[in-house]
Parts: sequence; structure tokens; C-alpha cells
Amino acid sequence: MAISGELLIGGQRVRRPETFLAVNPSTGENLQPPFSSANAEDVEKACELAWSAFHSYRELDPEKRAQFLEAVGDQIMALGDELLERGHAESGLPLARLTGERARTVNQLRLFADELRKGGWMGLRIDPALPDRKPLPRSDLRQRKIPLGPVVVFGASNFPLAFSVAGGDTAAALAAGCPVIVKGHSAHPGTSELVGRAVSAAVEACNLPRGVFSLLNGNSRALGQSLVAHRHVRAVGFTGSRVGGTALMKIASERKEPIPVYAEMSSINPVVLLPNALATRAEALGKDFVGSLTLGAGQFCTNPGLVLALDGPDLKRFVESAAAALGQVPPATMLTPGIHAAYEKGVDKLARNDRVTTIARGLDKAGVNCGRGALFTITGSDFVQHDEVAEEVFGASSVVVRCADEAELVRVLEHLEGQLTSTLHLTDEDTAIASRLLPVLERKAGRLIANGWPTGVEVAHAMVHGGPYPSTSDGRSTSVGTLAIERFLRPVCYQDIPDALLPAALRRDAPKRPRRLDGVYVAD
Ligand code: NAP
Repeated sequence: MAISGELLIGGQRVRRPETFLAVNPSTGENLQPPFSSANAEDVEKACELAWSAFHSYRELDPEKRAQFLEAVGDQIMALGDELLERGHAESGLPLARLTGERARTVNQLRLFADELRKGGWMGLRIDPALPDRKPLPRSDLRQRKIPLGPVVVFGASNFPLAFSVAGGDTAAALAAGCPVIVKGHSAHPGTSELVGRAVSAAVEACNLPRGVFSLLNGNSRALGQSLVAHRHVRAVGFTGSRVGGTALMKIASERKEPIPVYAEMSSINPVVLLPNALATRAEALGKDFVGSLTLGAGQFCTNPGLVLALDGPDLKRFVESAAAALGQVPPATMLTPGIHAAYEKGVDKLARNDRVTTIARGLDKAGVNCGRGALFTITGSDFVQHDEVAEEVFGASSVVVRCADEAELVRVLEHLEGQLTSTLHLTDEDTAIASRLLPVLERKAGRLIANGWPTGVEVAHAMVHGGPYPSTSDGRSTSVGTLAIERFLRPVCYQDIPDALLPAALRRDAPKRPRRLDGVYVAD
């Protein structure tokens, strides 16, 4: 399928005179073809179409929405190797990684299809009328969740498939009953177009209103900003920088009708090495840590950017092992020239900080947009006085914080901003100290991990990929797993509404679905 460079607005292909080119980060060369940049007219058209599609799409039988999500997955698989090859050219990510990411993308679409069929997402609650209750009767109260309306999804640079056009936010929004307008990431417009065409083909095959999906490519800040400001848009999903996320949060909150922005922004994912774990396996921990740190050139939001432990000979063994392992890691192509430049700047800033010591760097080899791993160290007392050391350096950079004692370790943890994850390495002998740290960590992060590494996020029902600000804009939500559907729904209560007017799922003769009946959970 030839990539055309056109926008996809409600299934229609649109070409614009203003264009931009993707860059192959491995070579620094431009990639063909030129891509149309969406303008104000395109924003208006996509939002109008999404709004008119919303009214029927939101009431579509969940089974039909499930079939649609499965059709999107099938269409993505039907793109074959072309999708992987274009993704590789635009991101520098290895083909094997993109093959895994495609499977994850398709599986999460299928997971949401299953979720739709189970019905729990509807949030049905029924408190039957109590006409004889004294002193006052109770009305008949019925609750369900309804979709918010059209959602704008910003494709992420670091997951061209799983967090982009048909990624987690899109799958969750479409499952919830919300049309989606994707603002494609300017780094991978060809990958976006291919996946966008797969979604459009599924819209057509399932006979859905065409405004259910649009893809607007472009590389101007105005494009994303006008989408977030548009009156028909009711929620935003974003993965990227803190600067970008907070700019969009501001626009959304200053609208006449403010809307939620679910922005995933920055996280350094602290890993705490507890004393007995360090004493018994310092060398293995050092080696495994470097594996997690340098995976995918460190370009994961869950990258372990901070390690904390009590200072001493065991930590020294960990550091020596990590330094030896990192010294063998070749530099890796980063996603974009901009991300590479930001990485170099962040590493340089840490290296020049007089409270910070450089422990090790990855192998040095000249390569376009290649990032070398970097490992630094600082004392706990300096860390809490130098906030710049806790800033995310997106890439394979991490800081080891040497704490004088347990009290300082707690002080350092308390000092941290909100995180996506926190990890503890421990043995049974570390249980007492771990139980004192856990209440701190659960206030700080959305996911707590024992004896593992934060990279690698399972797409599942119990997963939380979110956390307190600034890891995300709203720590009550997740962008991965079936709970993500909740971010695009809101509850409505129907009080004494006659059966004929009630939504089908709440009528007295409705097929039995999971619900809360007079406060008690009923499975079917
Ligand atoms: P980004 O610059 O925030 O861009 C993400 C998306 O938002 C792009 O579509 C971008 O448009 C748009 N955008 C950014 N700022 C905007 C603004 N002020 N107004 C309207 N739209 C805006 O993120 P990135 O390109 O992925 O990477 C840059 C940095 O983000 C990295 O160096 C890293 O620090 C961080 N990052 C963090 C994570 C994480 O999960 N923690 C993931 C990826 C990146 P364009 O396409 O036109 O640029």
C-alpha cells in the first residue's frame, strides 16, 4: 500500500499544500513522501464529523463496538511487513521490537473487545424504589456510565504503534463509545497513515458513521492546540513531554467548558535496593539494572532513572557491576534528532553538576542520533537539595542515590515527585524496612514492583500505568489495561424515569449484566 501523505478525515483522504517530511533518525535523511499538514478547516471538519457520529456511535450495541475493535486489529495485521518497515525507518526502533509492539497493539484492541462483551464497564447500579420507606419513600434510582464525547489522542513518539493512532487511548476511547481524532506524532507520519487507513477500513467494513475516526498529521503546535480548544472535543489523551502536556492542560482548563486531559509526562521510576537484597545479589542486580536502563535506548516512560540504597560496600559492588555492564553497551539510535539532542543536554547537565559524580558511560561510537548510556551518583543529602538531579532525562541515564541511613532514604523518597512506578528489591530479611517504605511509595506511584524492573508493562485488567502528578496529569486513571475505559466515561443517574425512556441496559427486562443491586454486587 503506497503511503500517500494525505490526511484521513472521516474516511476521506485530504491533501494540503503545506507539507512536512519525516526523518530517518538512523541516517538523519528525510523520508518520502511529503505529508500534508492539517489546517484549521481540517480541524473543524474532523471535529464536526466526530460530533455528529458521536450520537449514534455512543448507543451502538457493545457487541458491534467489540467487532469493530477486532476489525481494527485484523486490518492492522493485514498491513504486513510494510508497517514494521516504515515504523523502523521513522523511529530507528528494531524490527523485532516493532513486531512485539504490533502484537501488543492488536491484543489490547482484542482485550477491550472482550471487556465490552463482559459489560462491567457500564457501571450499572440499581437502587429499586422503596415506596413504603419511613419517614420518606425512596425513588427508583438507576445508574450507568455514558461516553464523554469526541476524544483527541496525541500519538507518542516512543510507541509508534501501541501508544499512537490505534494505541491504548484510542482503543479505550472507541470502546467507551467516543469518536477519536488522532493528532499524529510528527516523527512517524507514514506509520500513522498506515494504521489510520486500517482504522478507516474497519469503520467502513463495520458500517459505522465515518466521523468515528480521523487522523490529522502536522508538525505545528497550533494543530494540537486548536484540537484541544475545539468545542466538540470532550477529552484528551497525551503521552510526551511535561512542557507539552502542561501546555495542553492549560488550554483545556481555560476553555469555556473545561475538559479532562489525561497526559502522561515524566517519571524517573525509583528503584530501591534493600540491604539484604544488595548483600546477597549486588552483582546480578547491577547487571540486570543496566539491561532495563538501556532497553530501547532507555526511551520508556518506565525507565529506571533513579536507584536508591544505603551507602556501603554492598552498594559499591552493585555500582561496579552496573558500571562494567554499561561500559559494554553500544550506543543506540534515538527516536528523533530532537529527543537525542534533549538527552545529550540532560546528560551534560548532570555531568557538569558539582554535586554529581559520573560513574560510567556506555560504549562510545559515532553514529547519527545515537545515545550513550550514562550512570551518575549523588549522596542523599545533596539529592534533596538539588531538584534538578530528579528531572527526567529521557533516555538511558540514571542516578544512584547513596543514602546515609534509613531515615535519609525515607527523606529522599518523600522528596520525590509523583511517579509511574516504584520498585523494591528485597529478600524476606528486608520485610521490616520494606513495610515502612511501602506506604510512602504507594503515595508516590501508580505501580509498585517487587524484585523486577519497571520497563515492560502488561496490558491487563489490574494494570495501572499512571500515577500522581507530574507522571500524569490525573493519578486517578491509567492509560494501559481495561480500567483505561473509565477515563472516557461518566456516570448518569436516572431517577424515576419510566421504563420506556430508560437506556436499554437499565430497563427492568434488560438482559442480566454485572451490576450493583441495592449495593450488592451481582455477577449476572
Ligand atoms: P512532545 O514534544 O511533548 O510531543 C508530543 C506531542 O505533543 C507531539 O504531537 C507534539 O507535536 C505535541 N506537542 C508538544 N508540545 C505541544 C504544545 N506546546 N502544544 C501543542 N502540541 C504540542 O514529546 P516527544 O516529541 O515525544 O518527545 C520530547 C520529549 O518528551 C522527550 O525528550 C521526553 O523528555 C518526553 N517524553 C516523555 C515520555 C514519557 O512517557 N514520560 C514519552 C515520550 C517523550 P509535534 O508532533 O508537532 O512535535
